[in-house]
Amino acid sequence: MSDATTPVAALKDGIRRFAEARGWEPYHTPKNLVMALASEVGELCEVFRWLTPDESRGASADPQLRAAIADELADVANIVFLLSVHTGIDLSEAVRAKTAKNAIKYPPPAPPPPESGPGSGGGPPGEDAGQ
Ligand SMILES: [Mg+2]
Repeated sequence: MSDATTPVAALKDGIRRFAEARGWEPYHTPKNLVMALASEVGELCEVFRWLTPDESRGASADPQLRAAIADELADVANIVFLLSVHTGIDLSEAVRAKTAKNAIKYPPPAPPPPESGPGSGGGPPGEDAGQ
């Protein structure tokens, strides 16, 4: 099972069936799930607490930290999937729509204007070398 080959629907159905088999669905109100999501995000934060920026970049290379990150990331994802199930919001469509909104809100930076003047040549850096 990997991200490359696993549909979101399979993950949502898997956690839904897990909860159903344990009789947890009555507790899975949107309010409770959002509270649980905040708790699980807090647990993920705890893994990175006090790490320097460089240490945080390398954390997933440490087997013990990697396992802790994976566990908490999975908890966060499972609650997001349950929120999607219990609100009827299609997660893939929501991500697509929000990314489209963000593309308008945060356009990519414009390319820098071409340089002009003697010796600039307008070509790639280093093109003038040796002249
Ligand atoms: Mg957890």
